[in-house]
Amino acid sequence: MLPFGALALLGCAATGPSPKSAAETASAVEIQFIRSATVAIKYKNLDRKSVTILVDPILADKGTEPPIDFSNTNKNPTIELPVDKKQLLESADAILITHYHPDHFDLEAERIVPRDTLIFCQPYDEARLREKGFSNLQVIDRTFTWKGITISRLLARHHEGAVGAPPFGESSSYSLQTKKEALFFTGDAILDDRLRAALTSVRPNVIVANTGECQFTKENPVLTPGTPMTLTVGELKEMTQLLPRSKVVAVHMDAINHCQLTKDGLRKYVASEHLKGSIVVPTEGDVMAYDALMKN
Ligand SMILES: [Zn+2]
Repeated sequence: MLPFGALALLGCAATGPSPKSAAETASAVEIQFIRSATVAIKYKNLDRKSVTILVDPILADKGTEPPIDFSNTNKNPTIELPVDKKQLLESADAILITHYHPDHFDLEAERIVPRDTLIFCQPYDEARLREKGFSNLQVIDRTFTWKGITISRLLARHHEGAVGAPPFGESSSYSLQTKKEALFFTGDAILDDRLRAALTSVRPNVIVANTGECQFTKENPVLTPGTPMTLTVGELKEMTQLLPRSKVVAVHMDAINHCQLTKDGLRKYVASEHLKGSIVVPTEGDVMAYDALMKN
């Protein structure tokens, strides 16, 4: 390693463009995978300010909330949070709830999220959030721009044949666009005509994709057992073929009882299909720099 004085000299002797400061060269966006579909997006330099959006917070301690019906009886979440939940909430300037299901906004989040927190939600979920006392709601019908981030909602289907009516309700994907970064959250969606159209029209650089191959395993009046409710490994692969320049960050595994696909299982699939350059499978707590995702 060069001593500091030598580095300063190198800087003085440079004849090309002046070296950029660490702040200028560091990635302006960090994506922290928290747990399941909970992800924190930190924009570090939007008009010289830092802005964090917390997506789909489930905040319960391990095993303290009921299982999703028609699957096994394991209580949720099945693993612990990797971070302090109070600090996580304090760091968030806004919350995006992709859709109001208990594995995307759980009972603990309902209890501890401050009632005046800015929450972006789909139109379908507004009334229920208001009933819970949340007063600072910004419904995303189509597009809304906040602090330089344009949030667009795109219609999605939670499973094949879903019509957006109860008991499942609407499901949505979202694109988060700044001047430099194009992020996309699939939400709970299958890769059908809607999601394909959304992805190919937005052409995001980074796609946070809800997988886990969630499904009901017991007979029930809602959905045929075995019907996928989130992306399958085959659909993740198809996504990489659809948008070969995009990076897929796979989440929504290991924490909720009806998820069948594990991170380990997906990592094995990614290796066997030679998709390591296209699909990232983070571990809970991992922080990914947007720029590094684009380079690797
Ligand atoms: Zn889900």
